[in-house]
Amino acid sequence: MIILRGNETLTSDELFSLIGKINGIIYARVSTADQAKKGYSLESQIDKCNERALTKYKFKDDEIIALVEEGAMGDDPNRPALNYAMYLLEKGLGKKFFILHPDRLTRDNTLQGVVSRRIWNMGVDIEFIEFEVDPNDPESMLMYNIQGSIAQYNKAKIAANSKRGRIQKAKKGEIPNFKRMYGYSYNKETDTLNINEEEKEVINEMIDLLLNKNTSCNQIAKELSKRGIPAPNGKVWYQTTVTRILRNESYKGVFYHGQTKVVQKSGEKQQVPMPREEWIPINIPVIIDSLTFEKIQLAIDEFSKGKGRKSKNYLLKGIAKCGRCGGAAGSGITSKVKNGVYKYYACRKKASKGYEVGTGENVHVCKGKNWRVDIVDQIVWDWLADTLSNPKALIEELVSELGDSDKLKNLENKAKTIQDKIKEVKKEETNYIMLFGKGKIDESQFDMLTKPLKENLNYLNDELRVINTQIANLSKSVDEVLMIENYLKKFQESIASDNLDISEKREIVKMFIREVILNEDDTIIINTKWDSDGTDPDSNRHKKQVNGQAYGRQTA
Ligand SMILES: [Zn+2]
Repeated sequence: MIILRGNETLTSDELFSLIGKINGIIYARVSTADQAKKGYSLESQIDKCNERALTKYKFKDDEIIALVEEGAMGDDPNRPALNYAMYLLEKGLGKKFFILHPDRLTRDNTLQGVVSRRIWNMGVDIEFIEFEVDPNDPESMLMYNIQGSIAQYNKAKIAANSKRGRIQKAKKGEIPNFKRMYGYSYNKETDTLNINEEEKEVINEMIDLLLNKNTSCNQIAKELSKRGIPAPNGKVWYQTTVTRILRNESYKGVFYHGQTKVVQKSGEKQQVPMPREEWIPINIPVIIDSLTFEKIQLAIDEFSKGKGRKSKNYLLKGIAKCGRCGGAAGSGITSKVKNGVYKYYACRKKASKGYEVGTGENVHVCKGKNWRVDIVDQIVWDWLADTLSNPKALIEELVSELGDSDKLKNLENKAKTIQDKIKEVKKEETNYIMLFGKGKIDESQFDMLTKPLKENLNYLNDELRVINTQIANLSKSVDEVLMIENYLKKFQESIASDNLDISEKREIVKMFIREVILNEDDTIIINTKWDSDGTDPDSNRHKKQVNGQAYGRQTA
């Protein structure tokens, strides 16, 4: 086995003498933080990979090259040994790429995707000793991506989890939809969904109540509770549970994987919706046929007619949060007084209709206060107008966020340097082509002179590609901040003119405010977009506490 460490490379002669003779490339990496951990030593990584290559694939010891990266961080794309591994594979050295675990490749999810796709595109298999992945199997790729996200998460959190623990977590935690879908049982052995006959019976009962007995989803929830039928969560049938089940297209026999994706944003997990064309359809047993499903949708629409006409005239749509339970607060409740009608923000869970299994009794989920919409809106709007009209502090906060722009400039400079180098090398190559064309050098001289240039060019292009990926990721967040800064002036003018309608105001509020928490103690907390997205451990200090009175109706 040939072992190359860090910047070590083969000479051109060695390289060409090895073409066609190398079957396996082993890559081992250890960062300073990993060195203390068991099983992560470079020797044990190489040993395990080598053993797999010798026993499973019957490669011979002299058919293997091991590349060793020392002290490189998992998110640094400039890793000489990895770059050289790519280079060797591109030159046709190695049919299989051995590596202990995906997190030895990288702990950056984007980079994991970029690097592994490059390897697969060369027709080379990746063999992880402690992880299985099949690029042709969407399920397997999903697991692989989840693993990448988790590796990134752990990198950020410096988690103490063992490697095995992380994989277990991915297996258990990240495909919860499968296990939880009412009406099905998850078969762990085959990774498929089987019909749960008891629950299917309940779904059919719901359909019967809705379509044949003209029962609303709310009444169905109550009815099921009275009959003592266990709810998906055990204890309570909510109207929304029934509605969600009856509106779930999966029962028609196709489950869509990847409708949302868990991403790591500033070390925090966030679930984001994915575009429909990226969903992965998986056939599952049918519980509701298409025709019945359509009838169900129409019936539910019919019941909810006239109900969804909630007031839209409020500022904090989608932003107001219940301080009691953290849930969304909407404006649905009104009360008539002498001078007219007051509208109130109230926790949505307060209005949710749920019935206890067994008794059928109404369950109140949250008893948060009601807040007068006009008063809350005024307080928040005034605060925002004030903040935007006096932007010194705001700009300072924005600028601190722009710390990333230095990083970006660095990367851009790096990319520029590499591009310049590439130009130089190409120019040199052109010179040789001219010499060759004029007959000043013969073909073997030409090959000899241009070979190192080509190698260098490959290497530089590799580097450039990886840096560009990083730039693309970083510039997104920087652009966002710059955009806000640019628009700031426009907003100040609009606000000063004071002729904005409610939807324009709402747009402005949404640009700057992430959430407004309505607390039980009559305080309002305004969390802005530029603070506390998790990047700043001291972000709490940015919280704007505004004293405001609810003036709400007290709930019983
Ligand atoms: Zn609440």
